Amino acid sequence: MTPNQFESFAALDAIPRVDAKFFGRIPGLNVSAEKAEAMQRIEPYHSKLLERYGLGTFPTATAEQVHGNKLSHVTSGSTSPSVGADGLITDCKGITLCIYVADCAPVWVVARDGSAGALLHSGKKGTALGIVPEGIRQLCTMTDLIPRDLVLVIGPCIRPPCYETDFAAEIWRQASETGVKEIHDQMICTACHPELYYSYRRELGLTGRMLATLTLLPES
Ligand SMILES: [Zn+2]
Repeated sequence: MTPNQFESFAALDAIPRVDAKFFGRIPGLNVSAEKAEAMQRIEPYHSKLLERYGLGTFPTATAEQVHGNKLSHVTSGSTSPSVGADGLITDCKGITLCIYVADCAPVWVVARDGSAGALLHSGKKGTALGIVPEGIRQLCTMTDLIPRDLVLVIGPCIRPPCYETDFAAEIWRQASETGVKEIHDQMICTACHPELYYSYRRELGLTGRMLATLTLLPES
């Protein structure tokens, strides 16, 4: 894994017509700034990466990300983030769901048949508020599937001993409790790998954001 590329997850790559990516630290880019400024600097790079890796033609959907547990149902791309949402859920093909993180966990929840998916921002607070079981519940309602039909992936996030709360373990526990059987977590800590990831905690709040994406691909 080299910086400026992306990570993907075998469990999601195995699902037909689903594209899930995680873009880490942009090498050489100074993002030591407050969030708005850091985002302004990093966005052109994210656009280029989406283009380079085949997602450039799809409209994107983003969430305001307020560390809550609300999801927004995405039916079309939009330049403005979904207000009050920390999760995006869709069964529409050809829209790239985007969640930004720096220590909080990106969580992908995808129907094994590729018919729908959700992308969630779940840090300490969102996890305590149960955004992951809420996302699972909404995905099941939307698709008539059951939790057993879903694949869940927990992406890189901060973990003990770098952080006092093991919210990734809690996400796993919550998801398992809903009946999701296929849960994957590579157990990677963002604060332990400054060359690969931004870490809000390690960099004292002055840092960039990683980009997690989920796209249901249209029939080509
Ligand atoms: Zn660590």
